Amino acid sequence: MIIKPAISVISPDRMEQGIDLYLWGSPFEEIDLRKDCSNTIAYIPLINSHDHLISNWVPRAGNNRPYKNSHIWVEDMKESFAFQERDIFWHNNGSFRLEEPNSLILAKLGAYKSLFCGCSVVQDHSSNQVDAYYEAMPIVVPKNFRQCHSLTLGNWWGGETPEKEMELTKGKMPFIVHLGEGKDEITKGEFSQLKKMGLLRANTLIIHGIALTAEEISEVANVGASLCWCPSSNFFLIGETLKIDEVLKHKANICIGTDSTMSGGVNLIAEFLKIREHFPKIPTKEIYRMATVNAATALYLPQYFAFIIPNKCRNLLLVDKVERDPYENLFALEASTIQLLLVEGIPRFGDSEWMEILNLDENMYSTFRTGNKEKFVIGDPMELNDQIDEVLGYHKDFPYLPF
Ligand SMILES: [Zn+2]
Repeated sequence: MIIKPAISVISPDRMEQGIDLYLWGSPFEEIDLRKDCSNTIAYIPLINSHDHLISNWVPRAGNNRPYKNSHIWVEDMKESFAFQERDIFWHNNGSFRLEEPNSLILAKLGAYKSLFCGCSVVQDHSSNQVDAYYEAMPIVVPKNFRQCHSLTLGNWWGGETPEKEMELTKGKMPFIVHLGEGKDEITKGEFSQLKKMGLLRANTLIIHGIALTAEEISEVANVGASLCWCPSSNFFLIGETLKIDEVLKHKANICIGTDSTMSGGVNLIAEFLKIREHFPKIPTKEIYRMATVNAATALYLPQYFAFIIPNKCRNLLLVDKVERDPYENLFALEASTIQLLLVEGIPRFGDSEWMEILNLDENMYSTFRTGNKEKFVIGDPMELNDQIDEVLGYHKDFPYLPF
């Protein structure tokens, strides 16, 4: 099947008008159709480089903000309304075996947060889970990574020592760690600790890095390591964020994460808007680069997650053209404006019209209305929400779900 969008944003540096895109994947092979999509703009789907899927409860937790460092918040948030309400549905017994029924429901809803804003991938920072957990997700949640929660608190949520975790990466997958999430002496000392432990390498993905100095940021760039920026969460918890001007000056690889809704914004588009609010000089295409190409580099994902491949499109985000400028159009993205989200050759979400065009198996999908559009989505997130409601005894509204 061939489609022809008005504009295709092949990469942050290449935009094409009116070219053919060949959709690739099992639903398309039998379909000999050419569809004019001149009311749309095509992008590579976005990548959310940092989240905790199990923690996408609301409202945000933080009764004693701003915190000097996030380690204080990790304890303090247990007193919050959100934590205690979530506890009714899923009690964290400390095992962090997230494939169990109620934790899996929560984690899947957390992944839908990223699906409904056009993501192909969300990185779930927790201890490594069994394969069945990752396979149950509605979009790609990479299983190839190793991690440490933070050097100060260690792997309290499961996993090996940070040195052992790094060894297990064999340099072929990211080593992910919260680092410098604060403005006090403890978080300021974490970067030198990282280096001393031999953990600053090309596959290191530093989450937050608020406390990093300009010199330390240049060291990150020199070894080819990556940084993940979570502006909403940083401003909410700490009142400061990463020195982004230094990051861009030194050309360190920088991607963007939402963090969970216990501290972050509603989704990745909200992070884009937060960046624009605080740093209006950063060009929109650079923000797009952070959420696509740079993220694929940081997470060790194949190239087809980074760029549109016109003659073999297995990942694609097709969005209603409501703004003339493609990046402005992306900043205006809502679930209702996503016509089609294709990930790994499988349609995940979009206008119901596509369900008929592609002759999709109705058993794999559910439908709902948002705005004035009827939508299809892989799996059944409404049912997941219902299961939570049943346990709570009332309706729980998650603002990242569009139904
Ligand atoms: Zn985090």
